[in-house]
Amino acid sequence: MADLDILGAKISSLDMVETVCALAAYIDVGRQQNKTLPLLHHIVTLNAEILYKAQDDSRLMDIINRAALVTPDGSGIVLAARELCGREIERVTGIDLMQELCRRAPSCGWSVYLLGAAPGVAEAAAHNLIEQYGVNVCGWHDGYFKPDELAWVLGEINAKKPDILFVGMGAPKQEFWIDENRDRLRVPLVIGVGGCFDVLSGNLKRAPLAFQRLGIEWLWRLLKEPWRFKRMMALPKFVLLVKREARKKRRLAAESVRQNVARKNADESKKDVKKDKKLPQ
Ligand code: UDP
Repeated sequence: MADLDILGAKISSLDMVETVCALAAYIDVGRQQNKTLPLLHHIVTLNAEILYKAQDDSRLMDIINRAALVTPDGSGIVLAARELCGREIERVTGIDLMQELCRRAPSCGWSVYLLGAAPGVAEAAAHNLIEQYGVNVCGWHDGYFKPDELAWVLGEINAKKPDILFVGMGAPKQEFWIDENRDRLRVPLVIGVGGCFDVLSGNLKRAPLAFQRLGIEWLWRLLKEPWRFKRMMALPKFVLLVKREARKKRRLAAESVRQNVARKNADESKKDVKKDKKLPQ
């Protein structure tokens, strides 16, 4: 399913509908195991900022490449797929995926657990999701627990037996947390969703549709949260890296064509020499 290789990361090109089908299959596998085995499927919703960070962080890159599925969350990844793989792909953002799964949850009988964000935020998001989709939110907890509370948090999640655990502690913190605890979680599907609970709780407004469609949701976030400026400097650096890699790829492709033509010409002239030698004097 991960058919795109973008700057060392294996990324899925599935659209939203296909992604939800793939995730439903992961939940089914987990249910067949009765949620007793640590049969966790980690889903990463990857944006350019995190992929850029992973270039210098082999542990993060390794977690990304061991995930069951990596969705193209940001428009930077969509651009990279076009430039480096010649593919047009659909953005599958964490928040859209979460909402889509919650929409389907009642008819599929899935329960969900929300872990992350400041105290009270996951709870508010849970109430909104219950009201909007009628989803069974079996529990929630904020993302600021102390190390000595970890065992309790894991115990509570496992006791509630969710089909899907949404972890909203921001990337890449949530990716490290999921990976560190993957053997202790009895949940079929765990998805890192960044700051989604802040939006779903109503505390933060998501970018208007026009910004989303133009692929400039990052600009909206920057306007609303200017403190992100330093972090967002990764975006232009990511675009420059993609352009450089695309140029390198094109150069290598042209070089390989040149070498093939040269080899063919050399073969032809060898044949001509042999033919000349065979000709009677
Ligand atoms: N957060 C958390 N625990 C932490 C640090 C952050 O639960 O130790 C939450 C924070 O309250 C916010 C989210 O993680 O809800 C981070 O949001 P951000 O938009 O920065 O994440 P991104 O979407 O960029 O990954």
